[in-house]
Amino acid sequence: MRITIVTLFPPMVEPVLAESMIGRARTRGLVDIRVENLRDWADGRHRVTDDYQFGGGGGMVLKPEPLFAAVGALRTAAARVVLMDPRGRQFTQAVAAELTHAAHLILLAGRYEGVDERVTTGLADDVISIGDYVLTGGELPALVVIDAVVRLVPGVVGDADSVAGDSFVRGLLDCPHYTRPAVFRDRAVPDVLLSGHHAEIDRWRRQQRVRRTLERRPDLLDRAKLDADEQRELDRWRADSKESGDEGD
Ligand code: SAH
Repeated sequence: MRITIVTLFPPMVEPVLAESMIGRARTRGLVDIRVENLRDWADGRHRVTDDYQFGGGGGMVLKPEPLFAAVGALRTAAARVVLMDPRGRQFTQAVAAELTHAAHLILLAGRYEGVDERVTTGLADDVISIGDYVLTGGELPALVVIDAVVRLVPGVVGDADSVAGDSFVRGLLDCPHYTRPAVFRDRAVPDVLLSGHHAEIDRWRRQQRVRRTLERRPDLLDRAKLDADEQRELDRWRADSKESGDEGD
């Protein structure tokens, strides 16, 4: 998979993409990530990339020509062009999974007041927001998308099972995790995790996923894909919490 990010500020993204899991995925050739400076596609001696907006007021807007020129030069036949924009569709784990099917993603990072609307309507195949808040630029949103997408590329995360159990993958939050020491500041790891009994451990983890989701994000449960065990657990928790008249604890 190839990912190209077009930005006015390559130094904002390059160090992040060189570290840890993403950095390793790149050196191992699992993903080909390229950072492109939008200014390289701007014309004239000053390579201007932004301009005042028609109608007056507000801040500067990224001009359409450099963005169209950059995408025109960088796109491959399979490229999917994604504009980062707070007005886009909401980025979720499901969208991340969908984007992993693209052979080539081109992520456009806006700046200032945003990009000329003709980029949105005439260049972007997809417009994505990472949440209902406004940032100063599309660099962090693009990094968020890249991180979530690359994590799903086979081989990037060593243990495929751990990705399958992650929060949101099937609509449930993840279970608690513990490492050594078994007792830390008087807090002990649940006995079941030390039991070595894999079926019991698996059951406990499923129960915890359902319970956590019910307590913290009940909205997710409407769309969650539960198996029979998890559904039983959910029904039990709901019945219990109704009986005791509290939130389930
Ligand atoms: N005037 C715009 C905000 C522009 S912020 C508005 O009110 O909608 C400048 C740039 O930052 C945007 O073009 C976009 O690329 C990026 N950006 C800011 N917040 C974002 C978010 N929540 N999701 C995705 N991109 C975002």
